[in-house]
Amino acid sequence: RGDGSSAEKKEDLAWRSLPVNERIAHALVKGITAFIDTDIEEARQQAERPIHVIEGPLMDGMNIVGDLFGEGKMFLPQVVKSARVMKQAVAILIPYIEAEKSGEVQAKGKILMATVKGDVHDIGKNIVGVVLQCNNYDVVDLGVMVPAEKILQVARDEKVDIIGLSGLITPSLDEMVHVAKEMQRQGFSLPIMIGGATTSKAHTAVKIAPQYDHTVVYVADASRAVGVASQLLSDQLRPAFTEKLREEYQQVRDRQAKRQLKAASLNYAQACAQAFPTDFVTHPPVTPKMTGLKVLDDVPLETLIPRIDWTPFFISWDLVGKYPAIFNDKVVGDEASKLFADAQTMLQDWVRTRPVKARGVLGIWPANRVDSDTLTIYTDESRQTPLQTLTHLRQQTPDKEGFCKSLADFVAPVGTPDWIGGFAVTAGIGAEELAKAYEAKNDDYSAIMVKALADRLAEAFAEYLHEQLRKVYWGYAADEDLDNDQLIREAYQGIRPAPGYPSCPDHTEKGPLFELLNATEHTGLTLTESYAMYPTAAVSGWYFAHPQARYFNLGKITRDQVEKAAASKAMPLSELERWLSPVLGYEPEA
Ligand code: SAH
Repeated sequence: RGDGSSAEKKEDLAWRSLPVNERIAHALVKGITAFIDTDIEEARQQAERPIHVIEGPLMDGMNIVGDLFGEGKMFLPQVVKSARVMKQAVAILIPYIEAEKSGEVQAKGKILMATVKGDVHDIGKNIVGVVLQCNNYDVVDLGVMVPAEKILQVARDEKVDIIGLSGLITPSLDEMVHVAKEMQRQGFSLPIMIGGATTSKAHTAVKIAPQYDHTVVYVADASRAVGVASQLLSDQLRPAFTEKLREEYQQVRDRQAKRQLKAASLNYAQACAQAFPTDFVTHPPVTPKMTGLKVLDDVPLETLIPRIDWTPFFISWDLVGKYPAIFNDKVVGDEASKLFADAQTMLQDWVRTRPVKARGVLGIWPANRVDSDTLTIYTDESRQTPLQTLTHLRQQTPDKEGFCKSLADFVAPVGTPDWIGGFAVTAGIGAEELAKAYEAKNDDYSAIMVKALADRLAEAFAEYLHEQLRKVYWGYAADEDLDNDQLIREAYQGIRPAPGYPSCPDHTEKGPLFELLNATEHTGLTLTESYAMYPTAAVSGWYFAHPQARYFNLGKITRDQVEKAAASKAMPLSELERWLSPVLGYEPEA
């Protein structure tokens, strides 16, 4: 042992000789749960009434945490750890408070939180809930896949002050519009907070706010939730806040209206004429080593861990920086190191006790392009009997090179045998239960960590499986030798676009993908009514093997293309317009 660690040890214990209230504040700010039982018991005995421990030292401690977080001197992982101390302390006191019926602590306000119908993602919502709770807001968390009727019923029954809506996938944007319309129709006046990965100030201003005569506010991240909530609930601050918001959102709408005019520059036929000319002569399709399905049941986590891309892990905890340089960052470096160490501890535990399982399936099928944007998958190499139809979408604004791309361009037309692959993987089997068990123990830090790590493992699984596809199952790059950095940069041949992402924003194409893969039977993954995958730690997509295959952003498209796609999918136009609303370059008829 060097001097450093023993000095640190001494300092570590020095705070234990402080008066009990200061010890509690210290434990909160540092996120230390180790002594909370004894400290709370001591404070309870000294206090006149048990509730005073909450109103006094615990609140004081959390106020310090809130201030430090607001000033950017504390980061999200620390705040979530502080909240864990707070929750465990309160849990100790609750029986005493109930025994003497001394009433409830006066919260700053009651906030309903819900992930909307059809969506199952809740890391962001849970983080915001924790941050609000630590700032003494009462949070009513309705969980995931919550229908509008339930949100509004509970809002009434519980007399909440604010409704917070969260969602990650694009169909949730439409569902939020629906909730706002329902609130308008039913005469609500509560403010709505909007958050989650696909939400934005633009969408909130343009699509949601006009549906509701009262306040709708976009909350960009967890650190802003408290500021927004406190202004919404303050009689002094609210008028100026909502007025400024109204002006700001009007400007966003004005700007958007101008942009809308130049949404798509070509009509669909013109766009098809500028398709990407994939060269199937110089680079003929490679015959795969296998066709049909390959099921990977229970892939050992130690196979996946080396494939993890850690940078998004830090983003999920609101720590910005690239791995591994983030560890040397002057501002967040220390916190990133501690967070990473906690993640390693949990992963090692998972490798040993296997509470979380990874399952996946991939498929390779004979396929050809049958018209501009339709791919037919055949039952066998005779290519006589269609097994499935895939409908892709084409850019209508030419890219830098003058092409209007569609993923369909990367599969050879009829006459040249070609193939397409697909996959669905999850590392979430067991993860939801594990997270719930931590939540039940008032340990949101570990619950959020479980979900963040399961997400990382699912992405790592997708990376690992793609590599296996290239080297083994399809085998078009058998000699590839790339390290993890190169894999993260996708320095390999071929792509794995995921339905719902910019090249293929139509989430409903996960339907045929899951059918082809028999994914639910083979992996346990299911699709919600909005085509979100459950468990959430999951990735699915198509494999395109051609060396010229690239990701692109579809951009806005026009009605002629949507009509064609609707016919190809045998889906009513209005229904497809609803699914594609984020990419429509026109106003659909009501
Ligand atoms: N290493 C990252 C991988 C995810 S992001 C992680 O661990 O989080 C990259 C993936 O997103 C791609 O492999 C692809 O599946 C999807 N993707 C990215 N851009 C896309 C686009 N324009 N269209 C469709 N899918 C896309």
